[in-house]
Amino acid sequence: MVRYVYDFAEGSREQKDLLGGKGANLAEMTRLGLPVPPGFTVTTEACQAYLGAGRDPEGLAEEIEEHLEALEKTMGKRLGQPDDPLLVAVRSGAAASMPGMMETVLNVGLNDESVRGLARQSGDERFAYDSYRRLLAMYGKTVMGIDGELFESAIDDLKTRVGATTDIDLGAGDIRALVATYLQIVREQTGREFPQDPRDQLGGAVRSVFESWNTERAVLYRRQEGIAGDLGTAVNVCSMVFGNLGPDSGTGVAFTRDPATGAQGIYGDYLVNAQGEDVVSGIRNTVPLADLEDIDKTSYDELMRIMVLLENHYRDLCDIEFTVERGTLWMLQTRVGKRTAAAAFRIAGQLVDQGLIDLDEALRRVTGAQLAQLMFPQFDPSADRTLLTRGMNASPGAAVGEAVFSSDAAVERAAAGARVILVRRETTPDDLHGMVAATGVLTSRGGKTSHAAVVARGMGRTCVCGADDLDVDIRGHRFRTSDGRQVAEGDLISIDGSTGEVFLGAVPVMDSLVVRHFEGHDTGEDEVVAAVVRIMEHADRLRRLAVRTNADTPTDAARARRFGAQGVGLCRTEHMFLGERRELVEHLILATDEQQRHDALAALLPHQRSDFEQVLEAMDGLPVTIRLLDPPLHEFLPGFTELSMQVAVAEVTGRPNPRDVRLLAAVKRMHEENPMLGLRGVRLGLVIPGLFSMQTRAILEAAAARRRDGGDPRPEIMIPLVGAVQELELVRNEVLRVAADVEAETGVSVPFEVGTMIELPRAAVTAGEIAGAAQFFSFGTNDLTQMTWGFSRDDVEVSFFTQYLEHGIFAVSPFETIDRDGVGALVRLAAEQGRAARPDLTLGVCGEHGGDPSSIHFFDEVGLDYVSCSPFRVPVARLEAGRAALDG
Ligand code: ADP
Ligand code: MG
Ligand code: MG
Repeated sequence: MVRYVYDFAEGSREQKDLLGGKGANLAEMTRLGLPVPPGFTVTTEACQAYLGAGRDPEGLAEEIEEHLEALEKTMGKRLGQPDDPLLVAVRSGAAASMPGMMETVLNVGLNDESVRGLARQSGDERFAYDSYRRLLAMYGKTVMGIDGELFESAIDDLKTRVGATTDIDLGAGDIRALVATYLQIVREQTGREFPQDPRDQLGGAVRSVFESWNTERAVLYRRQEGIAGDLGTAVNVCSMVFGNLGPDSGTGVAFTRDPATGAQGIYGDYLVNAQGEDVVSGIRNTVPLADLEDIDKTSYDELMRIMVLLENHYRDLCDIEFTVERGTLWMLQTRVGKRTAAAAFRIAGQLVDQGLIDLDEALRRVTGAQLAQLMFPQFDPSADRTLLTRGMNASPGAAVGEAVFSSDAAVERAAAGARVILVRRETTPDDLHGMVAATGVLTSRGGKTSHAAVVARGMGRTCVCGADDLDVDIRGHRFRTSDGRQVAEGDLISIDGSTGEVFLGAVPVMDSLVVRHFEGHDTGEDEVVAAVVRIMEHADRLRRLAVRTNADTPTDAARARRFGAQGVGLCRTEHMFLGERRELVEHLILATDEQQRHDALAALLPHQRSDFEQVLEAMDGLPVTIRLLDPPLHEFLPGFTELSMQVAVAEVTGRPNPRDVRLLAAVKRMHEENPMLGLRGVRLGLVIPGLFSMQTRAILEAAAARRRDGGDPRPEIMIPLVGAVQELELVRNEVLRVAADVEAETGVSVPFEVGTMIELPRAAVTAGEIAGAAQFFSFGTNDLTQMTWGFSRDDVEVSFFTQYLEHGIFAVSPFETIDRDGVGALVRLAAEQGRAARPDLTLGVCGEHGGDPSSIHFFDEVGLDYVSCSPFRVPVARLEAGRAALDG
C-alpha cells in the first residue's frame, strides 16, 4: 500500500522528490537533533493523486488523522482544544524550490472559542487575537478564495482610525474588533461562516495547498525555471511556535553567507514580535540579524551554532527561516540557498579552501549560465553620473532602462522593444510577469531576503531593493527622492545591483572584471576572479571537447584566443564581401563573359588574401576553418522593390542609370522563392566558375605568406551545404589543383585540410560516403535544424514558436538547445558513420548550439572533438565542456 504521510522524524534530505524540499530538510534537521517543531509531511504523491482525481486519494484522510493524533499526543494537547489549543501551520513545499509561489496557512486550529483559551493560556489576549486574525486572512484568501486586498484594507483602515503606524501599535481591543470585521468579510464574501471545526480547517488547508500547485503564477514560475508541471507539492503540517508573543519573540531569515557576494559573515533580517511572512513582506522595517545578539544573546548564539552546523552538514550556503518564542529558538526551514553568479563561484572556491568539497564538486556547483552573467558589462566607473539614491545590492548587474511602475506596463513597454526597470514599493508573486519582462527591479521597501530580491537573483535580473529614501507613487506613475527630485514613467534610470546605487539617466557600461581578467588586464586580488580562474583551469584539465570560436575578423579571433579558444571553427568569408567590397561582388554578379568574370575575381583576390592572412596570424599555430562562400548572391545586391522604384522613377525623367538597369535585371534573374533552399553553398562553387578557386588561392597564398614570415598557419577549407559526396569531390579536386599551383608558384608547401559542413539531412544520412572525401565534418546545426524541421528560423520564431512552446511540442526553442531526438539523432548518426569510414575524421560543431550549455553536454556525449562558438561564449563552453566530462 502507498503511504502518503511521513512524520518529520522519519524522513531525510534525500527524499526531496517525495517529501518536497521543505519537508525533506525539516526531517533532516529533526534527525540532526535541531529544534524543529514536531509535525508530519503529506507527500507529493498524495498531491499528484489529488490533482489527478480531483479528490482525496483513498486512505489519505485516515492517514492524516493517525499522524495528527500522534502529534497531539506528543504535544500533550488536541488541535483546537478550547482551553489550550494545539495550532498547526499548513505549509506547501515542492521538490524544486519555488519561493513564495504556493500557499501556507498559519494558526490552523483557532476558532471563536479556542482563541479565548489561547489568550488565557498565554496570558496575552492581544497575541491570541493577532494569531486569529492572521488565520482568518490567510485561510480566507487561500482556502475560501476571498480577495486578500479586503483584509489588508480593513487593517489599514483600522490603523488610520486609531492612529497606529504599524500593526504593533494596535492594542488587544483593536485586534478583537479586527477579528470581528474579518469574520464579517468572510460571511459577506462567501455567504458562509468561517469553519469553526479545527479538523475541517486542516482538511481545507491541505487541499488548497495541493491546489496552489496550479495557480497561474506557479505555472508561470515553473515555465520560467524549467520545472516540470506534474510533480506536485508536498504539504507540511507543523506545530506552531509563536514569534508574535511580545518583545522577547520574533521571526527572521538568515543566510550562512552573503547570497549576493558570497562573503562569509552574518546575513539576515529579524523582526521583533512578528509572525510568518512579516519579515519578507516589508510590512515593517526589519533589523539586521546581527542586532539579535543585543536583543536575545542566548537565541543568537544558538542560531550561530546551528548555522555553522548546517553549513558543514550541507557543505554549502544554507538559507534559514527561524522563529524565537519567548527566548527559545525554533528552526522552521532550511535549504541550500540561491545565490548570485559571483557568490556561486566565490563560495565554491571558499568551500574548496575549507576542505569541505573538492574541485570536481566546485565545478559541479557553478554553471556556464552563471559565468555568462559574470561576463555581463558593468557601469563605467569613470563616467559622469547623477546619484539619485542608494538601496541594498540585492542582485548584481548594471541595468539601464525606462522606469515603469506596474508589471503590466513593464510587459507592454518591453514588448515594444524598450528596456525597462520595474519600480515598486515591494514586489509580490503577482509581479512575476513584470520581473520577467524587466532588465532590472528597484524597490523602496524590503531587505535582501524580500520577494523582489529572491526572485530577481533567481532569474538573473539586476535588483536594488529597500531604497527607502524613495517615495514611490504607484498610482501617479512616479517616484520622488527626499530632496525633491522626481522620476516619472518612461524616464531613464540606471541601477547597479552590485553596489545598490540608483542613478538618473543612462550611465555608460563597460567590460566586467572577469572579462577584463580574460583580456589580460590586471584586476588585482579579486576573490571571484580567482575562483573563476581556478575552476576554469580544472574544467580545462577535465574536458574532452576542444573549444574553438566563430570569428570572421582578426579582432574577434584574437579576443577569442585570449578567452581560451583553441582555433577558429568557423570563419565566414561572406562578411569579407561587404562594405566597400560590395561593388567588386557586383562586378562578379554582372559579368557577362569569361573575361569580365575573371577580372572581377582577380580584383577580389588580394582583399581576401589579406583578410585570411590576418586571421591566420591571430590564430597562429591553431586550426582555422574557413568556409567558402555560402549565402545566395542576391544578398549582396540591393532589394528588388527599392531598385525597381529607383529605375521606374528615373525612367519617367528619361535617364535611368545603366548600372541600375543592369542590376535590376540581375536581381530579377536571381530572384528565388525560397532562397534558403536555392543557389547557395557548394552550389555556387559549382555554378560560378572560378569562385571557389579564387577563394582557395587566397587562403593558400595567405598561408604561404605566413609561413615565409615564420608563422605556423593551419588553414582548413570547408565546403558548405553539401548534400552528396559528388558535390564535395568536384570542389575538392578543384581545391587540390589550386593548391598544387600555389605550391609551384610560391615554392612553399602549406599543410591544409579539406572538409565539409554537415547541415543537410541528406549529408547526415550519407555521411559514410561523404567522409571518403572529407578530412573533417563541421555540423552546421542552425541549418541542420531548419532543414530537419522544415522551418526557417526568421519566419517561425516570431510567428508560431510561442504556441509550440505552450503546447509543449518542444520545451525550449530547437535553435537555442539542440533537439536531441531529431536533429541530435542525425548528428549522432553522421558522427558514427563518418568515423567508421574514416577513423581520424575530425568532428566539430559550428552552429550557435556550440555555445549552449545543454547542447555542449550532448556533443560531449556523442563524442565530437570540438565545439565552436562566438568569442564571448568561449569561456562558457570551456566550463560546460568540463562539467560534461564530469557527468560522462
Ligand atoms: P514559504 O515556502 O513561502 O517560505 P513557509 O511554509 O516557509 O512558506 O511559511 C512562511 C513563514 O511562515 C515561515 O517563514 C515562518 O515564518 C512561518 N511559519 C511557518 N511554519 C511555522 C510554524 N510552525 N510556526 C511558526 N511560524 C511558522
Ligand atoms: Mg519558508
Ligand atoms: Mg549553413
